[in-house]
Amino acid sequence: MTEELKTLIELQQIDSQIISLKHTLDTIPSELKKIDGMINKFDKEFENEKKKLQDLEKKRKEKERQIEDLHEKIKKLKEKTSQIKTNKEYQALLLEISLIEDSIKKEEDNLLLMFYEIDENIKLLEKSRKEWESKKNEILQLRKDIESDAEKINNEIENLKEKRKNIVSQLPSELYEEYKELMKKHKGLAVAEVIDEICQGCFLHIPPQLYVEIKLNQTIKYCPQCGRILYYKSKDKKEEQKVSSE
Ligand SMILES: [Zn+2]
Repeated sequence: MTEELKTLIELQQIDSQIISLKHTLDTIPSELKKIDGMINKFDKEFENEKKKLQDLEKKRKEKERQIEDLHEKIKKLKEKTSQIKTNKEYQALLLEISLIEDSIKKEEDNLLLMFYEIDENIKLLEKSRKEWESKKNEILQLRKDIESDAEKINNEIENLKEKRKNIVSQLPSELYEEYKELMKKHKGLAVAEVIDEICQGCFLHIPPQLYVEIKLNQTIKYCPQCGRILYYKSKDKKEEQKVSSE
């Protein structure tokens, strides 16, 4: 195989690697966005649970105030007793007081239920807080891993670019221009292997005479259909030696 062809193949391999790494890199921002969305969603859910508990506490305080008011009402009614003149009025007052006492009892039962509910909610909130904390740590670790992956990929790309410069310097500038044109035209694949008489760029069946020439790897040959530079990789060393000695 000629040095030029070897260099072109090497250049294509490096460019393909760079393209694939850049493709991976492109997916990272959306991955991070997905993770941040997940964190926000759980944070919000936890905040909602907290808010629910706060609302319950508020209702409990209201209930306590309501009961206090009822006690106050009874106190005031009892103070009126001295002004009462008839037995009928007195009976009516007692009835009113007893009705209020009934509602105090009812409200106190409700208040007890509220305490139970609040207690339950405090336990649930504490449970979900613990669960969310450990999950959040896991997710944040995942985020860090993705970021360090991105850094590794960037470094790898930089290394490949350095290597690439070196390879390009070995190519005649005309050939490199040609390569660049083909890269642009074919979205990243300018140099294609021929396997079993098939161009791996466009899957054309290569005509027999051209195939024989390509197998020699002695001059630059192009695919008649897609125009890519073609090469042939022998399946073992022996065959390559046989081909190049022909
Ligand atoms: Zn082709």
